[in-house]
Amino acid sequence: MTEQHTQLIKDTETTRIIGHISGKEPGPTLILFGGIHGNEPSGVEALEKVFSDLKADTPELTGTIVGIKGNIPALLKKKRFLEHDLNRIWTLPGIDKIKNKSESERSVEENELSALHQLISDIFAKHPPPYYFIDFHTTSSPTLPFITINDALINREFASLFPVPVILGIEEYLEGPLLSYINGKGYVSLGFESGQHFTQEAVTNTISFIWLAMIYSGVLDKDMVPDYKKHLDQLRSSANGNRIFYEVIHRHRITNADNFQMHPGFRSFDDLQKGTAMATHNGKEIKALKDTIVFMPLYQVQGEEGFFLIRKIPSWILSFSAFLRRIKFDSFLVLLPGISWSNHSREKLMVNLKVARFFNKPFFHLLGYRNRMVDETHLTLINREQASKNGMYKDAFWYKK
Ligand SMILES: [Zn+2]
Repeated sequence: MTEQHTQLIKDTETTRIIGHISGKEPGPTLILFGGIHGNEPSGVEALEKVFSDLKADTPELTGTIVGIKGNIPALLKKKRFLEHDLNRIWTLPGIDKIKNKSESERSVEENELSALHQLISDIFAKHPPPYYFIDFHTTSSPTLPFITINDALINREFASLFPVPVILGIEEYLEGPLLSYINGKGYVSLGFESGQHFTQEAVTNTISFIWLAMIYSGVLDKDMVPDYKKHLDQLRSSANGNRIFYEVIHRHRITNADNFQMHPGFRSFDDLQKGTAMATHNGKEIKALKDTIVFMPLYQVQGEEGFFLIRKIPSWILSFSAFLRRIKFDSFLVLLPGISWSNHSREKLMVNLKVARFFNKPFFHLLGYRNRMVDETHLTLINREQASKNGMYKDAFWYKK
């Protein structure tokens, strides 16, 4: 490697860190990502603003806050990605494969993943738990700001502090997002979609979200943030007071080769009546098959999801499922014939398909099982609870025992 090349890598690495501040007192570590998608720079802008305010005012922090830029080459070109979607390649076998390639063999995004992966490992080595991860995004359609989480109780509890809607279960439809990788490690991690791409409101919402995240994670005392209430109000009014929990019930999948055109005017969280024409897909009209709620309709060229459909989760179901998980109800399930643990860590459940007929998908969702893989004889389900490092958060004010 030439000296010039080494310098170039160093420069890229220093610009990858938007800010990194540790307080005198040890405490939680808050890790914030912006621009994992290159056409979504609001997160980067908001992080730059907050870090410059933190440097000017220097409030005393407890623990550490780090702001990280995601896909730098794609951010420079204002494109979602250049070769691969950086938010779809964080599977464990995929990461191993990328790590085993030399830098010149890797694609643009594989190099970005490799750099980010190294950075995350360094943070784990240098800073103590508890860890909080937040990944900032925006959407191509107008939207209320919202949180997406993998459905573990620690994520639900932390997410419910913010005055915006929360979407569960999107991970079941997406392969390899960054946050699924972090969740697999058992840490609290939220995605925050702050608004529409390149809008001022998306930046403003992200700034407010960062301040609240610093307070709720314990990095910053509420009394040190004179604008605390202003930030709460900003998100509350931008979300129209909506802080409902929803779950994803359908993804309309598209490929690069498809001709997909969403009809104009749809916004996330819009109610749709049965029969509403939503899009054309390879010349065919796509209509709502029942009354439903549209989520993340696609109004850009790049992307593999045309739209999602969601539904509200009644609050009694949220409480009931939390109860079932706390008593580890799945330990009783494995007493039944045809149901067993598929690994020692008890995070995967194997269900014989003959038995699975008696239990529907919502039943397993209640227990915290989301990702489903089916082979000829068995259904394998992955539980988010078993991986969760609950003990790490037990002293946090928001943690429910
Ligand atoms: Zn995104």
